[in-house]
Amino acid sequence: MRAWLQTGFGPRAVRGLSEVPAPVPGADEVVVRVRACALNRLDVLQRRAPVVPTFRLPHIAGMDVVGEVVSVGEEVPATALGARVVLDPVVVCERCDRCVAGLPMYCRELRTVGSSRDGGFADLVAAPWRNCIPVPEGALDDAELASVPVASVTAWHAITGPGAVRAGEVVVVPAAGSGVGAAGIQIAKNLGATVITTVGDPGKIAAAEALGADAVIDRTAGPWWERAVELTDGRGVDVVIDHVGGEFVQQAIDALRIEGRIVMSGTTAGSEAAFRGTSLFHWGKRILGHGGYRPAEMRAVVEEYLAGRLRAVVDGVWGFEALPEAEERLESGRFNGKLVLSMEAA
Ligand SMILES: [Zn+2]
Repeated sequence: MRAWLQTGFGPRAVRGLSEVPAPVPGADEVVVRVRACALNRLDVLQRRAPVVPTFRLPHIAGMDVVGEVVSVGEEVPATALGARVVLDPVVVCERCDRCVAGLPMYCRELRTVGSSRDGGFADLVAAPWRNCIPVPEGALDDAELASVPVASVTAWHAITGPGAVRAGEVVVVPAAGSGVGAAGIQIAKNLGATVITTVGDPGKIAAAEALGADAVIDRTAGPWWERAVELTDGRGVDVVIDHVGGEFVQQAIDALRIEGRIVMSGTTAGSEAAFRGTSLFHWGKRILGHGGYRPAEMRAVVEEYLAGRLRAVVDGVWGFEALPEAEERLESGRFNGKLVLSMEAA
């Protein structure tokens, strides 16, 4: 089969279009013929350097897979054949002490499709059948469905899990043009929150408003957190969903009200963050870790899209062989929504 095989670390050229053996399904696995696979920031980060401790070369990236089941392992019902599915990329063992204790998101053997096991930038990908969420044809198109899993479940878990956002609260979901931002704005609005978002380009303001954001801050016009405090009449916001990290952390602390909270949900701007301790402890502010999500949360998120309560935002669709061009756009930051590879696109 064809695959974008990563054999080193560095520029886009470390991923080459290669011919590799087709995957064989394990007893509880299926092989999915990939129709579409969205890009994520982690695909780029791990091209430059390993991020996940279990990352190994050679590697096939691509975590957001939509496709059709074309073969099944001996423990999988034959009725699975032909199903259109979207993958939950997080594969857990269901046997270790943490899985048995009801904490599969901290499984000792956890592997992620496209991050620490082979992913969807290929003709075929193997995954356990329990990771496949069947979706009828036509409910969403393949690119829309592929735009859902990683970004949306990140936003969903942050907002409904550790963030515990309630109706009437003021929430900052930054980076409206990102997949997490686009999903998070909608999820928080559906819960009855007032949502403030940020953009790094005034050209993205209208799209952010169309997603339901109550206020959109152009962060190129000055410190976004000052504007967020102004928007709350000097009180500060209740919650910041920080999927950015780096220098954003201090800004998020400064945007918070007394005893407000931050959910650390990503570190796309950098894993290291420095902050003024006094700004946190004097005012009883809290920084909460995102942690992992449960399989049921991924299914709940997909259901939100199928029911029309969330809308997929696709920046663009590229043909399989145009992965370098799609990656270049992702790295440029000049996108709005998810970037998707499609086997059907030219
Ligand atoms: Zn486990």
